[in-house]
Amino acid sequence: MKEALSRVWRAIIEFELIEANDRILIGLSGGKDSLLLAYILSVLRRHSPQPFTIGAFTIDTRFGEEFPRPALQDFCDRLAIPFDSTTVDIPRAIAASSSQDACATCAFFRRGALNRVAREHGYNKVALAHHHDDAVETFLMSLFYSGRLKTFLPKTPQERSGVTIIRPLVYFREAEIIDLVDRLGLQPLKNPCPYNGNTKRQEAKELLRSFEAKDPEYYRRISAAMRGGDSAELWPAEPSRYDLKGKYLKFRGYPSK
Ligand code: SF4
Repeated sequence: MKEALSRVWRAIIEFELIEANDRILIGLSGGKDSLLLAYILSVLRRHSPQPFTIGAFTIDTRFGEEFPRPALQDFCDRLAIPFDSTTVDIPRAIAASSSQDACATCAFFRRGALNRVAREHGYNKVALAHHHDDAVETFLMSLFYSGRLKTFLPKTPQERSGVTIIRPLVYFREAEIIDLVDRLGLQPLKNPCPYNGNTKRQEAKELLRSFEAKDPEYYRRISAAMRGGDSAELWPAEPSRYDLKGKYLKFRGYPSK
């Protein structure tokens, strides 16, 4: 646990995730990542030099099985974390959406609901349980499916909602979370979503695994490319037709206007 806490402290300090008197709402799905996040923040709040309070909130996505509210309530009670939940009909939102990407629609509605709850209940931050593998997978997915070098940030202030998203687990590998959750005896809930395991993220995850199986250094190098700074050498942004025409005229020796 000591090693785990030092990783979270590193993220908190490096990315300035927590400030004095923050009110942090944890997005608690009941999966392994969010259970660990809630557990760790409940420990940290007792030792943090910057005092903060936490609450936890679950979006019941209505994916088939009965919502296991009692199990989540019990988990939060044992950690003395105030807990609440609401229902968002995600299958209906996906069916009504023109997007082919069910996960993007799901994330959009869940995030919107969580931000709204945070704002209405006086939380200034929302803590999400994304880990390092999630960041690298998102980086690959952006590259492959959008042609952009992009991933989520450890800290994202949101202008519209006024709530800042923080991700204190960004320095954990997924395998480390599985190991810790097991050793702490936490009981993750099964994800009832029919899309689970059949997503673009899963493709990126498997691709990464195959890279790592060949050479573990591949993962480190790909994740190093997520960092900004001087290491990137990219082509300039594609010019507009207007700019391109200007360059053409300049090349032909016409005076610029
Ligand atoms: S796998 Fe299911 S729960 Fe997860 S983001 Fe996709 S649609 Fe939502």
